[in-house]
Amino acid sequence: MGPTVAIIGAGFGGLCMAIQLERAGIDSYTLFEKGGDVGGTWRDNTYPGAGCDIPSHLYSFSFERYSSWTRRYPGQREILDYLEMCADKYGLRSHIRLHTEVVSAVFDETLGKWRVRTAGSGESGKREEHEEHGKDEEREELFDVVVSAVGQLNRPHLPEIAGMSSFTGPSFHSARWDHSVDLTGRRVAVIGTGSSAAQLIPPVAETAAHLDVFQRTPNWVIPKPDAVFGRAARAVFHYLPLSQRIYREWIYRYAEGALYPALAGGWSTAVVRKRALDHLRAQIPDPALRAKLTPDYPIGCKRIVIDSRFYPALARPDVDVVTEKIVRITPEGVETTDGLREADVIIYATGFQSTEFLVPIEITGRQGRRLHDEWKDGAEAYLGIAVPHFPNLFMLYGPNTNLGHNSIVFMIECQVRYIMGCLPYLMDRGPMEVRPEAMDAWRRSLDRAMDHMVWQAGCASWYKNAAGRVTNNWPGSTPLYRRLTRAPRPAAFRFAR
Ligand code: NAP
Repeated sequence: MGPTVAIIGAGFGGLCMAIQLERAGIDSYTLFEKGGDVGGTWRDNTYPGAGCDIPSHLYSFSFERYSSWTRRYPGQREILDYLEMCADKYGLRSHIRLHTEVVSAVFDETLGKWRVRTAGSGESGKREEHEEHGKDEEREELFDVVVSAVGQLNRPHLPEIAGMSSFTGPSFHSARWDHSVDLTGRRVAVIGTGSSAAQLIPPVAETAAHLDVFQRTPNWVIPKPDAVFGRAARAVFHYLPLSQRIYREWIYRYAEGALYPALAGGWSTAVVRKRALDHLRAQIPDPALRAKLTPDYPIGCKRIVIDSRFYPALARPDVDVVTEKIVRITPEGVETTDGLREADVIIYATGFQSTEFLVPIEITGRQGRRLHDEWKDGAEAYLGIAVPHFPNLFMLYGPNTNLGHNSIVFMIECQVRYIMGCLPYLMDRGPMEVRPEAMDAWRRSLDRAMDHMVWQAGCASWYKNAAGRVTNNWPGSTPLYRRLTRAPRPAAFRFAR
């Protein structure tokens, strides 16, 4: 008999975990999903232009190659189709409980199990049962293992700007797009200029009568060399699977060999910086606008925007880039130090509450320790996966496992393989928790590696918490992370038996 496993979240991470459990013949798992379907961030972010700036053949599971990608950089719908296909193909849906939020998880030391409390309809993830929500109800169930797969960018961040609620028109966050609002012929304000804004601004500019883009900090932008995979290319990928492997490997090695050093103060920093400046010069002929869009901090400190349509949209005559500080939102629009800019619709492309890992779930480990208390100075976890005093709790895409240069799906697969490697130990020797000494050593090595990284330089970003600690990113290379997570080291853990 396999362990009972509660997986929280049915995005890339949760689905990957469930698939590997299925492949290992363990079907005693439940996947809790607070939303109405699988897909995580790719279900939530439906703004026009939403897509991925990591190539599709790399931004997918290594064990589930897909020859149907229609573009080099996939759109949101295509990624969601892929994830839905995975859920169907591996028979995960009967294990998924949709509209079901994990409220708390408490480790019961006497039983050696987690008491997982959920709220929601408990509706099955089977497509035919989607039609109606069941009644909301609270439940408690016991599990041997809890795997959190809630992502880092799942809770929208709305800024605190005076007067926001006084605005009389529609306003919404990029990750909660209101599709009932027609932007045709309207004056639109977009606040923020990160990756989400860069993707949504071009289609919004095409639709709206006028667009004001409120930029607080310019981003470094490099081109996105998108391409269509026609029928011939797709046929090659389909009939010659080796071609897909080689292509994927090539993209991976390029990201690792050329982009990673740019973030680590290596040889390619100047090359990538030049590429960004050339891109800016080529796409923004107006020197005044170019000056506004030129960052004054090292490239890579904030997540680099990879997009070829963003700058041309900003250069349009019906688009203004506003850099004056926002003072307040009024019923009519956005007031800056320069005056009022009227708007019919305000779109907040203001990012996510990225450093508050696992909020709002209340997780209580041994001796009544609360995870959010343990993390009051910043979230941290051994390998980004395990936390002392929290036996049999594992994390996917946890603290310090985000990347600025390569595919997160790679990191998730490493983590899932590691957790799968833990299962025989915990079945044999009882609940396992990482030793505080192992965590301390991990923290020290992370701090040392972090010293070389550009994220520490003088910029604010979603990689850092309020105290300036980089809680989100992995400072090493991805081959190193793969090596470190190849298999659990029993000496790093304490076992109940
Ligand atoms: P983000 O990068 O955190 O950008 C938020 C933007 O809002 C920034 O420009 C920020 O300005 C601005 N902002 C926040 N609060 C503000 C305030 N009070 N007043 C004025 N401006 C304010 O968020 P995001 O664009 O949603 O992207 C988040 C991450 O999601 C990306 O970095 C990326 O990793 C991921 N993503 C990936 C893709 C992809 O293609 N793979 C696409 C979209 C998103 P400051 O810079 O001054 O803080």
